[in-house]
Amino acid sequence: MSNQLIIGAHVSLSAPDYFVGSVKDMLSYGANTMMFYTGAPQNSKRMPLDIMKIDEGKALLDEHNINPEHLIVHAPYIINIGNTIKPDLFDVSLKFLRDEMTRVAEFGAKVLVLHPGAHVGAGVEEASKQIITGINEILRTDQTGTIIALETMAGKGTEVGRNFEEIAQLIAGIERKEQIGVCLDTCHINDAGYDVHQVDAVLAEFDRIIGLKYLKVIHINDSKNDVGAHKDRHDNLGYGTIGFATLVKYFHHPLLTGIPKILETPWFNDRPPYKKEISMVKKQRFEPNWRENL
Ligand code: ZN
Ligand code: FE
Ligand code: FE
Repeated sequence: MSNQLIIGAHVSLSAPDYFVGSVKDMLSYGANTMMFYTGAPQNSKRMPLDIMKIDEGKALLDEHNINPEHLIVHAPYIINIGNTIKPDLFDVSLKFLRDEMTRVAEFGAKVLVLHPGAHVGAGVEEASKQIITGINEILRTDQTGTIIALETMAGKGTEVGRNFEEIAQLIAGIERKEQIGVCLDTCHINDAGYDVHQVDAVLAEFDRIIGLKYLKVIHINDSKNDVGAHKDRHDNLGYGTIGFATLVKYFHHPLLTGIPKILETPWFNDRPPYKKEISMVKKQRFEPNWRENL
């Protein structure tokens, strides 16, 4: 079980079938995990859990021998606990995150991906201090055991977490280390300036600066931009600047066994690319023009 490839994609959680609908989408892609937002990614309005067909979804997961702990939830991007300029946003974000951790647990999941934050002009130091304060405050009273996985960012705008050092500094300030983790995103680190093609070197550096034990989930995306562009625009496997040959190494790397790997690649011609991408990853073989033939 533990040396099995855990692979999935971003799926939506939407009316009328919500969770069971997401699980069905996931299965239709040939995936054995998925990542979802508990509502719209750009806001913090959330529907009550009792309409979300959670039990039905869990039963379907069980039928397919899928461990719900491999599922990943992504926090909405409006959450910014690094914003020291609007204190009310900090409070709202903390309250949302607390509730979100409860939702994560209700779905049977374990890991919540969080963009560390943006300093909006106040500087990385200030923002980092506040991010640490916020997460410690949440974890001190948390009863859910949900792990917050800080995502490595592209360094767009004033994003914090644009290199391994910034992530390590955040982790260093967290008291409950068993509930903090990291989400490595291949598009983001490429855009942040890492040479993602040197897979072993990237992982060695991650281990040296952060520690591989903190790595809880990997977003594997191609990038529309060159290394160091600080952009964050995902592309389909083999269509971007990173390329299939490199990306497939992250899926199958022995050091990353057992870590859920999630595609956040864009739809093409109104169609999800995931079934095809997942099958190519499993076969470790790229099919030219697959996207045009979807
Ligand atoms: Zn993200
Ligand atoms: Fe990501
Ligand atoms: Fe991204």
